[in-house]
Amino acid sequence: MTRTELIKFLGEQGINPSRKLGQNFLIDANLLDWTVRTAAPQPGEPILEIGPGTGVLTRRLIESGAHVTAVELDHRLADWIRHSFFHTPNFRLVQADACDVDYAALMGPDADFRCIANLPYAVSSVIIARFLELPRPPREIYVLLQLEMADRLRAAVGAKDYNALTVQIQAEYEVQVLRKINPNVFFPPPEVESAYVRFRRRADAPDIARRTALRELARLAFSQRRKQMRKLLRSRFPEEKLDDAYAALNIPADARAETITVSQFLRLAEMLG
Ligand code: SAM
Repeated sequence: MTRTELIKFLGEQGINPSRKLGQNFLIDANLLDWTVRTAAPQPGEPILEIGPGTGVLTRRLIESGAHVTAVELDHRLADWIRHSFFHTPNFRLVQADACDVDYAALMGPDADFRCIANLPYAVSSVIIARFLELPRPPREIYVLLQLEMADRLRAAVGAKDYNALTVQIQAEYEVQVLRKINPNVFFPPPEVESAYVRFRRRADAPDIARRTALRELARLAFSQRRKQMRKLLRSRFPEEKLDDAYAALNIPADARAETITVSQFLRLAEMLG
């Protein structure tokens, strides 16, 4: 849809794009084509799309022959999508809040799926964090995100953006910004810059038990950024275990969480049990 077609469509449907729902629709056909070409969905492959909106990305995913599952919260757009892709065998729509969906039930507990989407920015980190709770998180995630969020997720140790989610994401995925995206390719244009980001699952990504231990540790360690990590960990772990782990990993007693690398966090989670 061009900008004019989209404005006409929204008028006909009586839809006033919601800021809260991050309804910034893509109107650049070349960018949409490139986005899908880059992610390269394959015939028969399970693909999850969050927030199909008007269906511009959805249509391209369906045309690739992939088996597309889309989750849309807005009932007016969900009705439109249902109507547009009625009788399309390789498509299903779930009208739900993507933050609450049970993805293991939806995609299958061991499903090897990928996610390709233009995410609603306000909840993008919640959705990605939900993926990390799965027994088998998506093998790859190709998403449009707020650039600031992308920077946070790929922040280096010591950076002010380095946080508990950064640690969990980087333990699981290699994060790469494939392209920065100008606000003008959306209608209405968002007030922030965007990026097309690829998350590629690491060959040595932790299993669910290690991932869960890492999540709990990272959350506790970053719960008060300015505080020495050890003082925070004391509330959960015995002193002797902390002594041993700190010594084995060469972590100074007064270290704060932001100075601990992802691999140190992983080892620490293992050693503390
Ligand atoms: N895919 C379309 C495109 O690229 O033009 C729309 C993308 S728009 C950035 C985000 C979409 O996510 C909107 O359709 C919005 O209604 C939907 N959405 C917002 N919050 C949601 C949520 N919590 N769960 C599912 N969909 C949501």
